[in-house]
Amino acid sequence: MINNEKSIEFLNKLSNLLIKKISPINTVSSINKLLKEYLSVEKAEFVIWDNNNMLLKDFAQDWKIFDETNKENSINFLYSNLAITNGTKFYFNEYEFECNIDEDAQYRISELKTDKNNIVFPLLSNGDVYGLMNITVGKLPFTKEFFTLLNISSKLISGAIINFILNDQMEISLNFYKAMKDIAKIIESQYELSYIIPLIGEMIDRFMSSHLIYIFIFKDDKFNLVWPNACKDESVYKLLYQVNFKTDYVLSDDSKIGVFPLINEEHILGAIVAYSNIEKLLQKDIDYLVQLTRQSGLTIQRANVYAEVLKYATMDALTGLNNRRQFELRLKQEVSNSKRNNIPLCCIMLDVDYFKKVNDTYGHAAGDCVLKCVSDLIKSEIREYDIACRYGGEEFFIILPQTKLPEATLVAHRLRKVIEEAKMDISEAGVDGVSYIKVTSSLGVCEYNSSMSTNEFAQKADKALYEAKETGRNRVIVV
Ligand code: GH3
Ligand code: MG
Ligand code: MG
Repeated sequence: MINNEKSIEFLNKLSNLLIKKISPINTVSSINKLLKEYLSVEKAEFVIWDNNNMLLKDFAQDWKIFDETNKENSINFLYSNLAITNGTKFYFNEYEFECNIDEDAQYRISELKTDKNNIVFPLLSNGDVYGLMNITVGKLPFTKEFFTLLNISSKLISGAIINFILNDQMEISLNFYKAMKDIAKIIESQYELSYIIPLIGEMIDRFMSSHLIYIFIFKDDKFNLVWPNACKDESVYKLLYQVNFKTDYVLSDDSKIGVFPLINEEHILGAIVAYSNIEKLLQKDIDYLVQLTRQSGLTIQRANVYAEVLKYATMDALTGLNNRRQFELRLKQEVSNSKRNNIPLCCIMLDVDYFKKVNDTYGHAAGDCVLKCVSDLIKSEIREYDIACRYGGEEFFIILPQTKLPEATLVAHRLRKVIEEAKMDISEAGVDGVSYIKVTSSLGVCEYNSSMSTNEFAQKADKALYEAKETGRNRVIVV
């Protein structure tokens, strides 16, 4: 069928090109070069059906959906001039072409008479047309071999493009499952809504690249924006009040805004809004958002329950140290004990340096691992009757009863050193290629004297810590 050496060389080059894992844009441009060199094709374009809205979209231009109203658009020209009926027939300018895909190609070539032509080949997957290859060619005549080669090429290219599409879809669903898992996982260590909501917002935001995400919490009979800081669009607010705990979601008339209620069994907890003034929400996005919102609703609800329970608990769930409430209680006890019996008392306040960067670079799960490691180091460096507490996010207090300032200072220096030297194991966080990271900490140390109130004592440590930060971090300041 094909005996010409040049044709075989062409097909070889094409096959080699298609098995390379390069981006759609580069693949298309390389295909173009080959077709130009071997078959004098001026241009080859590839469009695929978008199952969401049955429009054609350009394969290589970043999956942009073609605007039906733009008549200048060459793809639109195709759309209106061609009708694909099935895998074996296609039409061009009223001429019907037989495209025998299994055997030698059969075309009624003689009917093509114009000077400049577009020839369209279907892209096929299991016999179904999922897109078109649009070839712009110069002058006639075309040989049968020319068509045969193009026909084989379109089949080879079909396979490569369908792989790209499947990979792309797989990546989207992988990202989706990752977002679902991340949202579900937050609850393992966090129960403060002020911390959880930005995390949920960021996770959904990362997943929904074409829309802005807003989160509202329903309180005092109204929706209050909690993430991000501002939402100026009035139509969002109008739409918000159309949801109730029975609605799955509400869309604006133009489908560019979607409101997805956060609910528990019978109440509205809030709503997640996807907003764009350019792009419509596709059915696929809507399905994902419904599920992500459901998962977020569960997480928020569980956080509310946890917070209620933990109000009465003494331990910090992530680190196993005393929590802040317990810290305040114990500090008061130790202060009054020191005052009454005139025994020395010191405290150390410790804050991890540039911790936000850890979260930003490796994700909050890695941040949590670091907090656990730091806590373990603190536990191992202090005496049994010292009291270590997690005061806030990455801030720790250590109360050192019966301890004078020089001893407390030694403990602080030792802590600074072990933290600086430790390899913080973040393998649990599943960051590709990174199993440990290093951090430093700043510490403030002070000693109690009987003229101080409990608050003044804690503030003094805080002031020392502040100075340690101001003067360069990774250091101990004693006041
Ligand atoms: P500095 O050196 O000045 O202390 O900078 P920093 O980045 O450590 O301080 P900053 O206060 O700006 O950031 C603290 C970050 O800690 C911000 C917050 O999102 C994060 N954080 C708070 N609680 C948690 C938590 O429980 N887990 C994780 N992973 N991050 C937390
Ligand atoms: Mg810090
Ligand atoms: Mg801090």
